[in-house]
Amino acid sequence: MNLSKANHQGIGMTSQRTRDRLIQRLRDQGIDDELVLDVMGKIPRHLFVDEALSHRAYEDTALPIGYGQTISQPFIVALMTQSLLREGKPNSVLEIGTGCGYQTAVLASIFHQIYSVERIEALHKQAKQRLAELEFFNIQLRHTDGNGGWPNPAYRFDRIIMTAACSEIPDALVEQIADNGMMIFPYDDGRDQTLIKLTRTAQGLVEEPMTKVSFVPLLSGLG
Ligand code: SAH
Repeated sequence: MNLSKANHQGIGMTSQRTRDRLIQRLRDQGIDDELVLDVMGKIPRHLFVDEALSHRAYEDTALPIGYGQTISQPFIVALMTQSLLREGKPNSVLEIGTGCGYQTAVLASIFHQIYSVERIEALHKQAKQRLAELEFFNIQLRHTDGNGGWPNPAYRFDRIIMTAACSEIPDALVEQIADNGMMIFPYDDGRDQTLIKLTRTAQGLVEEPMTKVSFVPLLSGLG
């Protein structure tokens, strides 16, 4: 990532001081992975939202990114990323729901190779341009329906992160979890959404509920 340009550094409500306050807030809420905190303190979240909203980019809140979608709340981004790091030495991560690309940028600053899919073409294109401008070279993006996982069915991932809530766990995604790998996803039971960690162990799949969340729904087909 290249942060040398002035607008990447930010001023006023997008300055380093404002970002540091967000990081302190994440710490206060129990995020304790120093790598995640460090990366989130550096990534210019204001460049991932509309300029009219950039003064709110370092609040711990979800914000609209157009097309009825949102950029996830920083606390949830931090919590999910921290959970992906917990066991083993993950290399590859598949993200379902690129959106504006902010979570993708956080992942790409930590893991070796990131794959991310988005069903809305305009968001996919915007994210692609933004991430290229920030000089991320370890991200592959596709405009596709994430219900089918990564378009190459031969691929397996150490980690899968879904940033939209499903009411049924897509089989293709479960198949793409590598041995000892894990998927984190919001599950909607019709009343509440719960963040779930699904791990592929030698004994089979193990499901652990984490916390209540609120995500936009996982949809089908292309937009
Ligand atoms: N990680 C993103 C979150 C965006 S919101 C960010 O921080 O900006 C969730 C995203 O998932 C939306 O952009 C939505 O279009 C996308 N999405 C929903 N269903 C999908 C599907 N089946 N395949 C791929 N992307 C999907």
